[in-house]
Amino acid sequence: MKPASPIQTLKHQLFSEKKLQVFIKRDDLIDPIISGNKWRKIKQNLHLARKNNKGILSFGGSYSNHIHALAFACHQHNIPSIGIIRGEQAYQSNYTLSWARHWQMQLQFVDRATYRLRHNDAYLKKLSEQYPDYMVVPEGGSNTLALDGVGDVISELRHQQSFDTLIVPVGSGGTLAGLVKADENQHKLIGICVLKGGNYLQGDIEKLAGKQYDNWRLMHDFHLGGYAKFSAQAYQQMCHFAATLNIPFEPVYSGKMLLALKQLVEQDYFPAGHKIMLIHTGGLQGLGGMLERGIITKAPIQLPDKPNFS
Ligand SMILES: *Cc1c(COP(=O)(O)O)cnc(C)c1O
Repeated sequence: MKPASPIQTLKHQLFSEKKLQVFIKRDDLIDPIISGNKWRKIKQNLHLARKNNKGILSFGGSYSNHIHALAFACHQHNIPSIGIIRGEQAYQSNYTLSWARHWQMQLQFVDRATYRLRHNDAYLKKLSEQYPDYMVVPEGGSNTLALDGVGDVISELRHQQSFDTLIVPVGSGGTLAGLVKADENQHKLIGICVLKGGNYLQGDIEKLAGKQYDNWRLMHDFHLGGYAKFSAQAYQQMCHFAATLNIPFEPVYSGKMLLALKQLVEQDYFPAGHKIMLIHTGGLQGLGGMLERGIITKAPIQLPDKPNFS
């Protein structure tokens, strides 16, 4: 068990002008290494793997927060791990995968066509036959065990801070689904979709959380051009806003959520007196790969150097 992640009150002139109270649940602080929501999603999978004396095999892109978190968590719990990675072997020296290898994850690089089979039953069956001692966890860690782990956010909040609306960034929708399910129609929940063309997510989340909840909605206007896309100007805005709020961020998930919040508040989306709770889902390790590729030139926080391999 880890202690509840802390709540921080966010101060900004914009919020006081509009008479709003804004808080952020710092899941990025659960662990100095593991990304917040990926830890929530992995937790119960680790227990099951340990109980059954199995390793964990999962999937991810070459800069995946999930792969990074899974490698570390498995290493910490003495569970062998395998990462099926989309892309070429050369990626193994990048920031994310250097750490994954440092934590003894075994990496297997596959081409895009093979990676596309990651939800295909026949392919998954073949993998389980090839690796009988491993439990297969889907990309991003989004399975039913993950939902319960994410639900802990809601139970912690019940003891920490009252709020009206919760806001979280959405990739695969597993995190929002877990929150919706655990919340049981008590609050309003908003998912900020960080990718373009995410209309399918509505159905995915309903399937995971259950169709009986109608207190949540997805917003599709804040992806800034697509998954992991953002302009230099948008990044500047994120840096400025986050510095004023005094929180670390990365531009793929939390940065987009912050800009969405700013815009919604400016547009008077929330009535005066409203209490807003943001969830900081972590993912700060992703900044390492962005610096390495020159996608950003300056990170909002200091990252640990990547480990060296000879
Ligand atoms: C994966 C991830 C998300 C999105 O979570 P989903 O459950 O896929 O919607 C949000 N924030 C960070 C930092 C992530 O790594």
